[in-house]
Amino acid sequence: MRRMFPRSRLTLILGTGLCLLFVPVAAVLTTTSAAGSSPTLYEAEDATLTGVTVESSMPGFSGSGYVTGFDESTDEVTFTILDSPGGLHDLTIRYATPYGQKHATLLLNGSGMGEVVLTEVEGWATVAAGRLNLRPGENTVTIRSNWGWYHIDAITVAPSPEPPPHQVTADLANPNASPSTRALMRYLVDHYGRNILSGQQDYESIEWLRGNVGRLPAIAGLDMMDYSPSRVERGATSREVENAIDWDARGGIVTFCWHWNAPTGLIDEPGREWWRGFYTDATTFNVAEALADPTSTEYQLLLRDMDAIAAQLQRLEDADVPVLWRPLHEAEGGWFWWGAHGPEPARQLWRLMFDRFTNYHHLDNLIWVWNSASPEWYPGDDVVDIVSSDHYPPVGDHGPLSGAYQRLVELGGDRKLVALTETGSIPDPDELIAYRADWSWFVTWSGSFIEDGQYNPLDFLQRVYNHPYVITLDELEDFKNWPDTTPSGPPSSPSESPTAEPTDSVPPISGSPSQPVKGCSVTYRIIIQWPGGFHGEVIVTNTGSVPIDGWTVQWAFTDGQTITHIWNATLTSTSPVTVQSVAYNSRLDPSASTTFGFLGTYQGANSVPAVICIAS
Ligand code: CA
Repeated sequence: MRRMFPRSRLTLILGTGLCLLFVPVAAVLTTTSAAGSSPTLYEAEDATLTGVTVESSMPGFSGSGYVTGFDESTDEVTFTILDSPGGLHDLTIRYATPYGQKHATLLLNGSGMGEVVLTEVEGWATVAAGRLNLRPGENTVTIRSNWGWYHIDAITVAPSPEPPPHQVTADLANPNASPSTRALMRYLVDHYGRNILSGQQDYESIEWLRGNVGRLPAIAGLDMMDYSPSRVERGATSREVENAIDWDARGGIVTFCWHWNAPTGLIDEPGREWWRGFYTDATTFNVAEALADPTSTEYQLLLRDMDAIAAQLQRLEDADVPVLWRPLHEAEGGWFWWGAHGPEPARQLWRLMFDRFTNYHHLDNLIWVWNSASPEWYPGDDVVDIVSSDHYPPVGDHGPLSGAYQRLVELGGDRKLVALTETGSIPDPDELIAYRADWSWFVTWSGSFIEDGQYNPLDFLQRVYNHPYVITLDELEDFKNWPDTTPSGPPSSPSESPTAEPTDSVPPISGSPSQPVKGCSVTYRIIIQWPGGFHGEVIVTNTGSVPIDGWTVQWAFTDGQTITHIWNATLTSTSPVTVQSVAYNSRLDPSASTTFGFLGTYQGANSVPAVICIAS
């Protein structure tokens, strides 16, 4: 009587609106990067067609027609890209969906790249379908039927812009989070983009990994399912809290989901048994109606269930076990009752739980992991620490899920960590690096997904678990005491060669000997640079003997550099460059520092300017 997860629930969603986040930088890089950066259009009607036909009856297509008739699973259109310089490229698909939203399967050079959602549109539309890492020379891009019943007009392929640095912070939604919880978050942020943490759902499957792969995951995925009151009253028991305490003692990280058996309204007939009570189709429980009336029995049962789980989480807090807490997962899929009535009740239930656990139960060991990429379902930055989604690509597809990753980066404004909280086929670590799909961790689902040799062949698992990019249990550092040294600027990418330059500062501006000394110094450095662009960082330090309540930094660029984007400070003038503190970093105690960052362009040299700092 364990969870059963039909393949039909599993969706890989590639991004729509992929480029939004990158617009400012993309605009800059387009003007400064080498020739060939503009999109190249490939007409579907000129591509290689298998089981599909060219039509021209629906107006508005480009070229001489479009391709349609995707009704067999093997039907496909294959575009050939000749003489590519290679490297990361953004794929856009122009399509029509006269029969509503459909999915298409993508392949690059015959290898699976997940699915793309073709949303329902009037007429023709384009969708940002994620990234392709092209090899030099010839490449093929295939769109394969999947759900079919759509028209494909054309694709465009354009070199991907350099991604801006992450702006992820270790701040937690609960201001009273415990020291070990805050330390775990800092550990995750410090490794973001440098490594991926391995994870495995279910203690039995972890044991299978130990026996067959010889290494253990950094993260154990566990489930509050059998603490649900409507299961407990039918005799269910669980050892998941004991497992979590054991895993913590072995130096591992714990994540919990909760297959929340509906509190009441279980149908309990063949196919809809009580133990499937987290599924929408196995219960009559209506979350929208329950939440609409706080005096109702159903509302009180929601609180009863939350309180039961809070008691288990309290045991973990008492044992100083921080938890990556992922309740109400996959809500937007609708297959679980908490997502069965649309986004509003799901968001409301999340906020109710956050408030109940944080402010009523004072659970301070939780890092709140939201599990949907859709903005309509997002409950808000103030109650979410990490954004995530679950993906089960087809057998043999170990692609990086870059479109899905970008959607989550956009959802969290690149200020929230992004995690792959459930997967079947594990992404290839080499692909993750190549695509800069910086998933913080992955958790492979249990049972056949890890053990059947199909989703993840044993030699592949051994490569993943021995890959230098992948952190395993034995490689975890002391995350519960991880120091608070995170710079306020984003970390540099491991694939770049840092080009740090010497520091430059001016002496503090002193007051008269009889007065307190007020002053500041600055360090200017180039974190990364690439053709035409760079990421700069400035550290401001109070060198005086008294606190300062604001600072201004000024310099004159000597090589025609310009600032295109700035964070943790305000750009008030460009010539000379004048940058001022913002409300949250204007006050600095003696010896304290703060950091701001920026993206810039340059031509020729990119010299480090002389920088002055004025304290106020
Ligand atoms: Ca066309």
